[in-house]
Amino acid sequence: MTILLSYRGGTLDRANLLRHAADPAELLRRPDARFLVYWRGLHPVDPARSTALRLDPLRVLPLIEALDPPSLLLGMEDDAPLIALDLSAADGHGDGGPVLDLPDGWVWQGLRAVGALLPAEETALLAYARGMLLWRARTRFCSVCGAPLRFEDAGHIGSCTAPACATQHYPRTDPAVIVLVGDPAGRILLGRQPQWPAGLYSCLAGFVEPGEALEDAAAREVFEEAGVRIDDVRYVASQPWPFPSSLMVGFTASACGADPVPDHSEIEDVRWFTRAELDRFGADGTPGPDGYLLPGPDSIARLLIERWRRSVD
Ligand SMILES: [Zn+2]
Repeated sequence: MTILLSYRGGTLDRANLLRHAADPAELLRRPDARFLVYWRGLHPVDPARSTALRLDPLRVLPLIEALDPPSLLLGMEDDAPLIALDLSAADGHGDGGPVLDLPDGWVWQGLRAVGALLPAEETALLAYARGMLLWRARTRFCSVCGAPLRFEDAGHIGSCTAPACATQHYPRTDPAVIVLVGDPAGRILLGRQPQWPAGLYSCLAGFVEPGEALEDAAAREVFEEAGVRIDDVRYVASQPWPFPSSLMVGFTASACGADPVPDHSEIEDVRWFTRAELDRFGADGTPGPDGYLLPGPDSIARLLIERWRRSVD
């Protein structure tokens, strides 16, 4: 089965060797440079064009001069540098973005709002830029000694400025497992967190802890959240999830018999659903006739559920 998932499948040349050698100031001023800009969680998007917006230097250089914003080399596109630029320090403007002259038709949007609308390779590019810039914004000081960091490798390494420490900090990705649990009766186990939109039920998920394999984490999370033991844990797919820095690793598994009991901490309700019940879930953000709602179409949870629904046709 072809797996179509948002935020993955990027084709950009990340130009690893160029990162080591490039002068960041020179890259910023190359006339052929293109910029993916980001402002307080938002990206300029026009879904009708099916592409992320690359801005030319003339549109962004005044803000670079004024703000000296965080920037980093994403890679090379058509032999030109593609640079991520975090304009979050710029003041807001009437249209909900910074003072920046966007081309006609482009608006500032959150990535989740457009994740299922743009082609996967474009969402992967935005996810890459977003994940890197969020890491930069949250990694300003050395976690070993507390000294400020200096960013090197065209923005991809944070080096501690204290000579006696000199620890290097790399962009981080936090693995999380997400599990579609099935049972012999042809049902799947879905739960909901209290802060989620009304009616939304999804696969159980959680972060991998030190000393765990992915399969161990899957079994622990399902037992902690639902009181159900699982086996036959099988990998399906993974998905970058830069909200802010996760990698979702998706599995299927088989339940070993117990009735689910929510932990009443992370999970307020967990239950089995048949395929007929799934067919009555809302699929577009609005609960269906029974009051239930599927997870968003850009999520790996939705992929796991749809894959299961098709497999039992
Ligand atoms: Zn340090």
